[in-house]
Amino acid sequence: MDASLLRDWMAEISSAVTAKRDYLTQLDAAIGDADHGVNLHRGFSAVQARLDESDDLTPGQVLVTAGSTLVSKVGGAAGPLYGTALRQAGKALGDTDEFDEAALLRALQAGLEGVRKLGAAAEGDKTMIDAFAPAVAAFAEVVDAGGGLLAAAERAERAAEEGMTATVPLQARKGRASYLGPRSVGHQDPGATSTAMVFSALRRAAARARP
Ligand code: ADP
Ligand code: MG
Repeated sequence: MDASLLRDWMAEISSAVTAKRDYLTQLDAAIGDADHGVNLHRGFSAVQARLDESDDLTPGQVLVTAGSTLVSKVGGAAGPLYGTALRQAGKALGDTDEFDEAALLRALQAGLEGVRKLGAAAEGDKTMIDAFAPAVAAFAEVVDAGGGLLAAAERAERAAEEGMTATVPLQARKGRASYLGPRSVGHQDPGATSTAMVFSALRRAAARARP
């Protein structure tokens, strides 16, 4: 696999958040400040523009560039969190031109670690971690058993969606939604929802990259 898979992934995320911008914003209207879709749409459109004007990036540079763009273009919690995830993932890929499933797994793990460090949220706090952590664990299970990219991405997508749905009955303990206390119960977390979209985008990119 090379940089084109990651460019494709970023493009898939960008179209998904464009298509689901209003939906993400509605979820955030219920337990936040109604800007999640707007934030991510602005951020990933900027990522797309930035990548379009930068040829010859290594796989690691694609992710670091995307992450730095999100950090600089998006306010709120999710921009810096997703930006950090992508930057840490890109750094973990190093400066090689090609990478395998195991390297991508290490990159996803580094991205998750970056979000955990910055946001200090644990699983069950009703944040993007509730989709991100099970997705990375599912990806790891497939790769550790010798499975390929598409199989790993399919399992990660399912795990992220399950984690997303499981945020509904939770009470938020981090981020803006936590200010609502028990009133945050009964709503799906916007960040966990966008993280499920990120893994769904990876599965679509993986399906196309299949030789
Ligand atoms: P803001 O809350 O600043 O308006 P967004 O609306 O863009 O930012 O993003 C909200 C999402 O960010 C939440 O749904 C949640 O998933 C995620 N989030 C908030 N705080 C944290 C945190 N400390 N750790 C991980 N994710 C978080
Ligand atoms: Mg918000």
